[in-house]
Amino acid sequence: SEFKEFSLLESIIDRLSLKGYKQPTPIQKECIPALINGNDLLGIAQTGTGKTAAFSLPIINNFGRNKIDIKTKSTRSLILTPTRELASQIMQNIDDYSDGVGLKTKVVYGGVGRQGQVDSIALGLDILVATPGRLLDLIETGDINFKALEVFVLDEADTMLDMGFFNDVQSIISKLPKNRQTLLFSATMPAEIEVLAEAILTDPIKIQI
Ligand code: AMP
Repeated sequence: SEFKEFSLLESIIDRLSLKGYKQPTPIQKECIPALINGNDLLGIAQTGTGKTAAFSLPIINNFGRNKIDIKTKSTRSLILTPTRELASQIMQNIDDYSDGVGLKTKVVYGGVGRQGQVDSIALGLDILVATPGRLLDLIETGDINFKALEVFVLDEADTMLDMGFFNDVQSIISKLPKNRQTLLFSATMPAEIEVLAEAILTDPIKIQI
């Protein structure tokens, strides 16, 4: 498949063939090489374009090549998304794409028990998918540490704004280390998101689908 043209781990290529993905979508063609390379990214794209694989395949690939130092007990990448449905879907996709790579992953959202989430996070995670309210709660109680965070993905930034999560999102971002790779996805670019993008992205690749 055309996925072979990206330098992705063999086990990822195998999972994609099993899922029947024959070729990358336009956003995947542009994002995957840029993200493997470590660039920041501004993606103006809706759900349905294949954006989940566009951001998660490079993370899985880069972490699969360079395994977590479990002694740090930190979270290596954070994917922040507005709703528990989106969070669950993203986690399912990631667990599916990364089968066989051996990453530690966890999804957290509100409205369900907290202790199981705390216990998983405490051991150190490669990939955490979270909604803003519960994550901020976990940060405020000191139950999560981002000192070794490498990649931050802000998904559906305009929906965060529409749902009134913008202050929470800004508080969360203020707690993350500055030295990291940052990806921002939004279907539209209202002024507030333009300003945020300007503040948190460094020389981003811009992709509009
Ligand atoms: P997303 O925009 O990330 O929500 O993805 C939309 C749907 O497209 C999901 O059901 C994915 O499993 C599927 N998908 C993503 N990338 C590909 C691909 N390259 N080929 C076929 N299906 C894909």
